[in-house]
Amino acid sequence: MSRQNYDCIVIGAGVQGCFTAYHMAKNKQSTLLLDQFLLPHSRGSSHGQTRIIRKAYEQDFYTHMMEECYTLWAQLEREAGVSLFRRTGILVKGPAEDQDFQLFRDTVQRNAVPTEELTPDQFSRRLPQVTLRSGEGTFIDTTAGVLYADRALRAAQGVFQSLGGVIQDGEKVLNIQPGSTVTVTTACGVYKAKTLVITAGPWANTLLSHTDLQLPLEVVKINVCYWKERVPGTYGIETHFPCFVQTGAAQYQIYGLPSNEYPGLVKICYHMGSKTEPDERDRQKDQTDVHVLSHFVSDYLPGLEPEPAVVETCMYTVTPDHHFVLDYHPIHRNIVIGAGFSGHGFKFGPVVGKILCELSLGQIPSYDLSPFKIQRFHKNLRSSL
Ligand SMILES: Cc1cc2nc3c(=O)[nH]c(=O)nc-3n(C[C@H](O)[C@H](O)[C@H](O)COP(=O)(O)OP(=O)(O)OC[C@H]3O[C@@H](n4cnc5c(N)ncnc54)[C@H](O)[C@@H]3O)c2cc1C
Repeated sequence: MSRQNYDCIVIGAGVQGCFTAYHMAKNKQSTLLLDQFLLPHSRGSSHGQTRIIRKAYEQDFYTHMMEECYTLWAQLEREAGVSLFRRTGILVKGPAEDQDFQLFRDTVQRNAVPTEELTPDQFSRRLPQVTLRSGEGTFIDTTAGVLYADRALRAAQGVFQSLGGVIQDGEKVLNIQPGSTVTVTTACGVYKAKTLVITAGPWANTLLSHTDLQLPLEVVKINVCYWKERVPGTYGIETHFPCFVQTGAAQYQIYGLPSNEYPGLVKICYHMGSKTEPDERDRQKDQTDVHVLSHFVSDYLPGLEPEPAVVETCMYTVTPDHHFVLDYHPIHRNIVIGAGFSGHGFKFGPVVGKILCELSLGQIPSYDLSPFKIQRFHKNLRSSL
C-alpha cells in the first residue's frame, strides 16, 4: 500500500521529471514521481540511446546554463557509477552569411567557448567525408559530445530512489485539483502534496487543462533516421567523427551524431517535424523531414547511403519562440511547470531539474528565467485562461 501524502509530486518521468525528482530528494523533500507508462518507454521525448550536448548555442543564456550542466552530468556519473558522456566535439557549419550560423559563431566567441577553427584546406584533411560548399563557415565546439540518454534516465531514477524517492509507473494522472494542498488522482489512487511539478512533455496541455491553463505548444513527430555508412566506420565515434549541426541547408537545422549505438549507422535528424497529437503519433505518416534529410545526405555526406536504414520515432513539444517554459502556474503558485523543450532540452536536464526544484521550494532561482516565463505568451494566454 503506497503512502498518499508527499511534499512534492512530479508528473512525468522523462528527463526533466527525473531530474526534478532527483533534486527534490536531494533537498530532503518526500517526492512521488508518476508516469503513465511502464518505465522505460519509448512513447515520449526522452527515450533512445543518444543526445547531443554542446555549449555552442545561438543565445548566451543557454551557453551560460551549459556550464553548470556539464558539472551536474559529471556529478550524476560519479553518484551512479556509470559513464553518461563521451566527448566528440560538434562541427557547426553553414553559409557564412547565414543568420543562424552567425548567431552560433558570435555566442561562442562572446563566451569564450573552446573551439577549433578550420580553414577549407584543414577541413578537407580533417573531415574528407563531409562536403564543404564554397562560402560556408565552420568551427568545432570542442566541449560537445554524446550523452547516453536511456542510461542517464536510469541513473537519475536510481539516485532518486536511493534517496528515498518513490517512482510509480504505469499510473496515469487523470485529474489535478489545485489548492494549498494539491490533489492528484491517478488510475490507481489519490495523492496529496504541498507542491506539484508538471513535466509531462507532449502531454503538458492535457495535464494543464485540469488547471484551466493552456500553453501555445505544438507537438510534432520526429522521424529519427539512421543512415548506413558505405564503408563501415567512416563516420564513427571510434574514428573521431564529431557530432554536427548544419544551418542554411533547409528551413530548419539538420543535426547528426557519429555512428555509435547501431554500428555502421549514423543518426541524422531534421530539427522540425509534422504536427501530431501525442497519442496519435503513429498515425502521422508525413515524410517531409525524411525527404529533406535524403537531399542533405546526398549533397553533403557522400559516404552515406541516401535512404534511411532505420527510422525510429520521437516527439518535440515546440513553443512559438523555441525557448522552454520554466515557471510557476500563473494562478496556482504551488504548481510549477517545465514544458516546451522544443527539441533541445535533454542536455539541460540537470539544470532544468534544479530550477524547477528551486521554484517548487519557493527559492530564488539560480538563473534569470525571463526567457522562459509564461508571461511572454501573454496575448495567446488571455484567450485560453
Ligand atoms: C529525435 C529527438 C532528438 C533530440 N535530440 C536532442 C539532443 O541532441 N540534445 C538535446 O539536448 N535534446 C534533444 N532532444 C530533446 C529532448 O530529448 C527533449 O527536450 C526532452 O527529452 C524532453 O523531456 P520531457 O521530460 O519534457 O518530456 P518526456 O520525455 O516526453 O516526458 C514526459 C513524461 O510525462 C509522462 N506523462 C504524460 N502525461 C502523463 C499523465 N497523464 N500521467 C502520468 N505521466 C504522464 C509521459 O509518459 C512521459 O514519460 C531531442 C528530442 C528528439 C525527439
